[in-house]
Amino acid sequence: MPDTTETTNRFDALVIGGGIAGAEAALNLANMGFSVVIVEKDLSLGGKMIHLSKVFPTLDCSACITTPKISETARHPNIKIFTYSEVHDIKKLGENRFTAQIHKKPRYVKEDECTGCEACEKVCPVIVEDQFQFDLVGRKVAYIPFSIANPRVAAIDIENCILCGACEKACLAEAIDFTQEMEIIPIEIKAVVVATGYHLIDPVKLPNYGYSKFKNVVTAMQMERQLVPTRPFNTVLRPKDGKMPENIAYVLCAGSRDETVGNPICSQICCMYSIKQAQLIMGALPMADVTIYYLHIRAFGKGFNEFYLQAKSMGVDFVKGKVAKITEKENGNLIVRYEDVYKGKVKETEHDLVVLANGILANDGISEMFDGVKLETDPFHYVKQIDELANPTRTSIPGVFVAGAASGPMDIPDSILSAGAASSETASYIRRLS
Ligand code: SF4
Ligand code: SF4
Repeated sequence: MPDTTETTNRFDALVIGGGIAGAEAALNLANMGFSVVIVEKDLSLGGKMIHLSKVFPTLDCSACITTPKISETARHPNIKIFTYSEVHDIKKLGENRFTAQIHKKPRYVKEDECTGCEACEKVCPVIVEDQFQFDLVGRKVAYIPFSIANPRVAAIDIENCILCGACEKACLAEAIDFTQEMEIIPIEIKAVVVATGYHLIDPVKLPNYGYSKFKNVVTAMQMERQLVPTRPFNTVLRPKDGKMPENIAYVLCAGSRDETVGNPICSQICCMYSIKQAQLIMGALPMADVTIYYLHIRAFGKGFNEFYLQAKSMGVDFVKGKVAKITEKENGNLIVRYEDVYKGKVKETEHDLVVLANGILANDGISEMFDGVKLETDPFHYVKQIDELANPTRTSIPGVFVAGAASGPMDIPDSILSAGAASSETASYIRRLS
């Protein structure tokens, strides 16, 4: 049975999501003197950004921006954080008065006792795919999610655990606790910020591109992890045979602007992250050729067009053409079949690695967190902005605000700006009605 905490915890604001937008909104509110509770579904704060190599168009180190902000959030005296937790039953009882339940899932490690020493990880005999490295390598079943995780606390992946007890014996802090159960924590808040972000399109849903069938077709996040300083290998390798690729193709709009997969809109970030990766590959593999197959290059932000031109001048080949199909040769190389738009011809080109710039989708289940009051979504399942131009962070529920990509595809600077706006609106709402 879940452990239910009797006392209700009171905060000014609930921030759902501990990625860059959630952290920014929470920090702003906390710095204004409000008490904030962040609920993050994953084991660590940091969202997608903490996994990136560099950011476009400045090529600044992503972790160098994310980690200080996340540490400041984690250490702030006005912020309480629940990781590996979900929000349920948000009820509006009146203006400035909401209740909700936090469901804190068991990680089978006492957070306050764990020192992050990794002893459990070293002795654990079971290896499974590491989702934080996008399945490029394995991880142990007793594990710290990734090197810069916050909190840096181990967890036991109970579904794959064989209950051998080795981790328990190795843990000098006696932090492992297989008796943990889900805790239900009731909270009362005055306002809510939804910063639930997005998820990447599953490329298996794009069968023409052969992801999962052809090992040398990878996603952009799998390439991103090969370009970060904490990369699993010390260079870029193709998965099938560990060979250094010499001729890499990017397929843009993989699952974006595509009615057939139910995502007719532009994901807004794929053109630019592909251009960024192409430049980083040219640094990591100076002899490699990089071709980007595109429909349109959407370089709309500050400095984006110059960044695109820089990639061109570095030698990245941009081919305007819709990729129809990818097939595999016996040696693992891939044949990309595409329509060359300028020449009006169907062509085929051989590459030894293909990267799918898979687009993004709204996260599911946000409306279902609310009980008795409806959080409206737009036709693409993002949180509906009721006044997109004048008040883009307001939602259909007064007192509930949206920050970052929960309201639609957006890049990092726009997510941070949106979080700033959401925190200002939240502060103003709480003050006005207090
Ligand atoms: S659970 Fe124990 S052994 Fe594992 S990292 Fe934490 S303190 Fe170390
Ligand atoms: S009990 Fe489970 S988590 Fe611990 S060492 Fe054994 S397999 Fe790994």
